[in-house]
This record gives sequence, structure tokens and C-alpha cells, in this order.
Amino acid sequence: MLPEAIAAMVDELGRVGNASSLHTSGRRARRVVEEGREQLAAAVGAGPSEVIFTAGGTEADNLAVKGLYRARRAADPRRVRVLASAVEHHAVIDPVDWLAEADGAQAEWLPVDRLGRVHPGVVRAAIERDPGSVALVSVMWANNEVGTVQPVTAIAEIAHEYGIPMHTDAVQALGQLPVDFAASGVDCLALSAHKLGGPGGTGALIARRGLELTPVQHGGGQERGARSGTLDAASIRGFAVAAALSVAGREQQAERLAELSAAAERAVRTAVPDAVLRGDPDPAGRLPGNVHFTFPGCEGDSLLYLLDARGVECSTGSACQAGVPQPSHVLLAMGVSAADARGALRFSFGHSSTDADVAALAAAIGPAVQRARRAGLSARSRR
Ligand code: PLP
Repeated sequence: MLPEAIAAMVDELGRVGNASSLHTSGRRARRVVEEGREQLAAAVGAGPSEVIFTAGGTEADNLAVKGLYRARRAADPRRVRVLASAVEHHAVIDPVDWLAEADGAQAEWLPVDRLGRVHPGVVRAAIERDPGSVALVSVMWANNEVGTVQPVTAIAEIAHEYGIPMHTDAVQALGQLPVDFAASGVDCLALSAHKLGGPGGTGALIARRGLELTPVQHGGGQERGARSGTLDAASIRGFAVAAALSVAGREQQAERLAELSAAAERAVRTAVPDAVLRGDPDPAGRLPGNVHFTFPGCEGDSLLYLLDARGVECSTGSACQAGVPQPSHVLLAMGVSAADARGALRFSFGHSSTDADVAALAAAIGPAVQRARRAGLSARSRR
């Protein structure tokens, strides 16, 4: 977390008061929440009344996908198609799949090119197959594995030509890319505090005024009835401070992160010449703090542990099912073979990353790949 966000949050944790209570402490907590709402709204180009606080990005995505689907279908039962990119985070994919299983939705996964990008023409073609049956479109702002930035404004314009709402998962984007909710034209946008130096388990859905969203969570009617539950004033304050600071310092930070990423990319290529950079090779087309490679002949998991033992913490980006690593759906959608996708690693840089981190990666990656390849060879020869 950013030190300023920690300080703000710790200060708040020592105070009592539920923001829904009418007594003095409650009113004071309410002020903290409303100031946080204003600060966050200003940082993302939204109005304060458009901020719905949630317990993280996953909840914000669930509220957007399920809330839009249900509201749209309630208004017209023909609206059952959910168009979402094939490279969404599971926080979008799984609610869509769940709606398909439990609530009559038809999931349609929008294909991406080999850089992981959704072409607006693909969205138009999908809508035009039967515009009256589309409940919503969901395309993330930037991908969490390969960092590819999506043309969300162009896609929102197309969706709106047909009166269809568009959700975007901007969890990875805020603080790294310029994010302006109003200018983007999207109808709702998911955020997560822990991606920008705020606390874990806190986020928000920014939802345009007047957008019909059926609540997922019912109870005390907080957040204008869209998301019941006692508000976490301390986390909201930490989130708002982190968002304001990371947005104010974004340009400088993005430049620094892009330099670290470029240095990491050079280091990996030097140590492992056959490593393949995934995502947009043009840094302008991907998150500045993201570098993603596949390492032929390696298991990403083995590499991850070998690097971890040398103090380099990174991610494979893929999930395990029953203990068996699965190739990333993002890479598969980009046309990467399942075999190549197994050797994936994502390196991400943030506000606390330094040149020393890149140097540690540069020293560790060559030997780690050699060991992972030897392990892979002997495992294959045993089979
Ligand atoms: N969406 C994207 C693109 C993410 O990268 C993440 C987290 O990694 C999420 C959603 C989920 O956010 P949270 O961890 O706050 O639930």
C-alpha cells in the first residue's frame, strides 16, 4: 500500500461509528465515506453519485454483469445474450457462465487477435446478428495477464448505437492508464483498491446515473440500494487516498514503470533468447507495468517456484483445477498453443518496484529456465 493510504486508513481504524448511524460518530463516519466518494469520483472522471463502493473488483464485476443482465431482461425478456471478451478476468467470465447455467443467459465470447485485442468490428457483427436480444457487452479496459489495452470507447459507441449498455473491468487500468469514466462513454466500470496502492478487499463500481442495475446483495439498502452492507469507512478512505495519489502521479509513474518493464524485457531476452513476449509488443498498447513471456519447454509453475526461491515473485496468470495447472484462457484465446501457454510468466511492476528488482530477475531467469527445462525433459522421458 502507499504509505499515505496506510496512514489514512490506520487513523480511521481507531475511530468508532457506522456511516449509516444517525448519532455523532455515525455522521462523522458518513462524512469520511462521502469525502472518499468525492475524491474517488474526481480521480476517475465520474460524479460522486455514480460511485458504488464494494468489497473489491470481483464484487464490482459481479454487480455489473448480473445487475445489468437482470435489469435488462426484466425490461424485455428477449434480452438474454451476454457479449464478453474471451480474455476477461474470471470475475467477469464466471458470473457470465453462472447466468448461462442458472438464469437463461446465452454467453457469447468475443474473439481477440493474437495480441489479445477485441476489434470493434467483431462487437458490431455480434450485436447485429440480433441486436434486440443483447443484454450487455463487457470488455475489460486492460488485460491482467498480457496487459493489452482494449478500444473500450469505440466499443461503447457501437453498443450505444443499439441502446445496449457496456461494462468495463478497469481494475488493471486505473493508476496506470488515463481513465476518465465520463469521456470513455462506458456505462459502468469496475475498480479495485489493491491494484493502486490501496487496501485489499475494497473496490467500487462506477455506474452512470440512471443506469438500471438489479442488486446482487440485499439488506440494509446502502449505496442507494445497489449494494447493501455496512460501509467500511477506513478502507474507503485508504482507497480514495490511493486512487487520488496514483492518478495525480500517473504520468510520471507510468514512465518509470515502462522503463522498468523495458529493462526487464531486455534482461529476459538476453538470458533466454527464445522466450516469446506476449501481448502488444508496442508498449503504447499495453499496461506500462506489465511484461509477459512464454518460455518454450518450461512449466510456468516450476519457473515461478525457482524464481521465488531467489526472491523474484511473479505470476503464471493461469489457474489450477484440482491441483493441475491449466493453460491460461487468455493465451489460448490469443491463439497460443496449450503447450506454449504452459510456460507463461507475468512480471508486473508497481510503485514499490526498483532497478534492483529488474537486476534480481536478470540474474535469476537464465538459470531458472535451464533448470525448469531439465526438469521438463526428465519428466517427459519418464513418461
Ligand atoms: N479484474 C481484473 C482485471 C483483475 O486483475 C482482478 C484482480 O486481480 C480482479 C478483477 C478482481 O479484483 P479483486 O481482487 O479486487 O476482487
